[in-house]
Amino acid sequence: MNMSRIYLSPPHMGLYEMEYVTKAFVQNWIAPAGPHITAFEQQFASYVESAGAVALSSATAGIHLALRLIGVGPGDLVLCSTLTFVATANPIVYLGAEPVFIDSEPNSWNMSAQALEEACHKLVREGRKPKAIIIVHLYGQNADMSELSRICDHYGIPIIEDAAESLGATYKGKASGTMGTLGVYSFNGNKIITTSGGGMLVSDNLELLEKARFWSTQAKDPAPHYEHSEIGYNYRMSNVLAGIGRGQMHVLEDRIAARRDVFARYKAALGNIEGLSFMPEMAYGRSTRWLTALTINPNDCPVTSQELVQVLAQNNIEARPVWKPLHLQPLYRTKSYFSHEGSHVAEQLFEHGICLPSGSNLSEVQQQYVIDSILHCLQEAGLKV
Ligand SMILES: *Cc1c(COP(=O)(O)O)cnc(C)c1O
Repeated sequence: MNMSRIYLSPPHMGLYEMEYVTKAFVQNWIAPAGPHITAFEQQFASYVESAGAVALSSATAGIHLALRLIGVGPGDLVLCSTLTFVATANPIVYLGAEPVFIDSEPNSWNMSAQALEEACHKLVREGRKPKAIIIVHLYGQNADMSELSRICDHYGIPIIEDAAESLGATYKGKASGTMGTLGVYSFNGNKIITTSGGGMLVSDNLELLEKARFWSTQAKDPAPHYEHSEIGYNYRMSNVLAGIGRGQMHVLEDRIAARRDVFARYKAALGNIEGLSFMPEMAYGRSTRWLTALTINPNDCPVTSQELVQVLAQNNIEARPVWKPLHLQPLYRTKSYFSHEGSHVAEQLFEHGICLPSGSNLSEVQQQYVIDSILHCLQEAGLKV
């Protein structure tokens, strides 16, 4: 079959993005200011039901601002999920603080409450109370926030939610990203909706958001000349890109439904094969299935997840391993890490996990080609499927 390359999670534009972008050009709002930014922020805040939102150049910028808003500075400790993309933790280091990595639990693949409790207990006892925590919601599924919040509240540690991958997910009826002091979303090209690059910071505390808006636009004091008393950043979203964001908001629910359908088709075709386990969806909420992720148990299946990624690449299909835990990264190997009940869950998920092409614009023909390629690979290895 002649197939062009099938990507893991490509952009998927709707019908209105170009119209908004054209409007930005017509009105000459080609700047990190303008009516699309305000409208996008309002629409976004209303979708997730937060008091407000600030549109930024990236989620990484949002995490940086969120940490500074909480007062994280040199020498502070910040707790952080270990199973995530490196951008979750880097802003901790931008501020001179130190990450402490927390393992996943096996059900949701998200932060383990047991490991978190152990970390808090030990660090507080040593007089090194963490200043903040970043909880990641992985691959479109919210972490079990009731448990995690209870622990954080007990120790008085403010929560930042890294919801870069979980826009549209819910937890007990609430929107992912709205249960901490601050929440951050990404509109990078591979996320469930995209502005090519961009991010959003949300909170119910409008004062915090006002400060974030100030810092993100170079911290200009109110004065007729250029007056500065604080360090700022150039982190604001462009009005052109906010136009793309407004268009994408029209189709967000469709994109979630499409990704869930992609997951359901993979599960129906591959779910009964010995050794393959799809990432579970927890009963407490809706996963968007941003990426379809599964593990392959080498005791039951003759093909490893790494081999499958390679075979799919030869078939012009982009699959990826699950995130490499940050405590294993050369960059962060020397930092502290707390495992889940002594079993290293994130390491296991990395070792055996694979993410399959999951785009909302993946056609059924393309997906069948991915499924057939997987089945063929397993058969070649001697598995009866
Ligand atoms: C994509 C991603 C980020 C970074 O988002 P940017 O908008 O590219 O800065 C941060 N955390 C997680 C978990 C991500 O998946």
